[in-house]
Amino acid sequence: MYDAIIIGAGPAGLTASIYLARSGKKSLVLEAKSYGGQIINTLDIENYPGLNHVSGFDLATNMYNQAKELGANILFEKVVNIKNTNKEKIVITDKGNEYKSKAIILATGNEKRKLNLENEEKLTGCGISYCATCDGAFYKNKIVLVNGGGNTAIEDALYLSDIASKVYVVHRRDSFRADVKTTNLLKEKDNVEFIYNSVITKINGNEKIESVEITDKDNNQKTINIDGLFIAIGAIPENENFKNVVNLDNSGYIITNEDCHTSTKGIFAAGDTRRKDLRQLVTATNDGAIAANEAIKYINNLE
Ligand code: NAP
Repeated sequence: MYDAIIIGAGPAGLTASIYLARSGKKSLVLEAKSYGGQIINTLDIENYPGLNHVSGFDLATNMYNQAKELGANILFEKVVNIKNTNKEKIVITDKGNEYKSKAIILATGNEKRKLNLENEEKLTGCGISYCATCDGAFYKNKIVLVNGGGNTAIEDALYLSDIASKVYVVHRRDSFRADVKTTNLLKEKDNVEFIYNSVITKINGNEKIESVEITDKDNNQKTINIDGLFIAIGAIPENENFKNVVNLDNSGYIITNEDCHTSTKGIFAAGDTRRKDLRQLVTATNDGAIAANEAIKYINNLE
């Protein structure tokens, strides 16, 4: 029986595990993919206080090692179900394992949103990517297109503009939601062309991507030949497996109060997976600490 099981080893989950370990509680972290969550793909972080310019990979690795050094138990298994009884909480994984705990912290983050177009899945890895810092190097002096208008899209386009010969940025509205500083940096680049009020309606290619068709708000269509398509249209929470134990909002985010309590006693949610306004590294780590502290109080009360 663990005191707490933390689901997700991104910044929120790893922070929670650090706080639980330091309080002497026995906890288990279960992660479906790799540690670090979304920051693992961020080349340069400059908005985490005290760490000016750090790579996401380095910061995530430091968090992971810090948690391990403090005694965190981290396993790579995907949680497929949670059973909540009066006595205990049972977490079931894709490996068929069952782990029992007094409290749970859900910190599963988000998954990249798809365009859901024909050929998207088939050509992923063959010209379609969801991570510029992972795949950008393949497009030296080539033509790429970034779709989206948030921080990820603008940062991806900026990164790619130093590698590719030409970068199109296609966005469905006429203004970006990304921060002004990064957007202005991108606007200064000579090899970047902005296409506003437009969406991708078709992806063409057999073995690899060849072109996309875009449609503007007046229904005009045009085809752009490209070597690479970077889809950066946000993310969706990965909470489908938890909807039987906690309340979700209409977009699938876990509803919590400001202390990360969900609708179920003893189950807390932290980071991008919960409903909130600002999803950033700093708010994820903040949530991790709060959720752990609340879980510790809950466990102590049980005892
Ligand atoms: P995001 O902020 O949710 O932006 C998603 C973008 O994709 C929006 O511009 C949205 O358009 C567009 N979009 C959504 N669905 C679409 C669809 N089906 N077709 C076409 N376009 C679509 O996502 P994000 O950029 O991945 O950022 C996620 C969070 O991480 C944000 O809070 C962001 O600030 C943060 N982040 C921070 C940093 C940093 O601080 N360095 C870096 C990366 C991300 P609309 O604008 O019209 O809604």
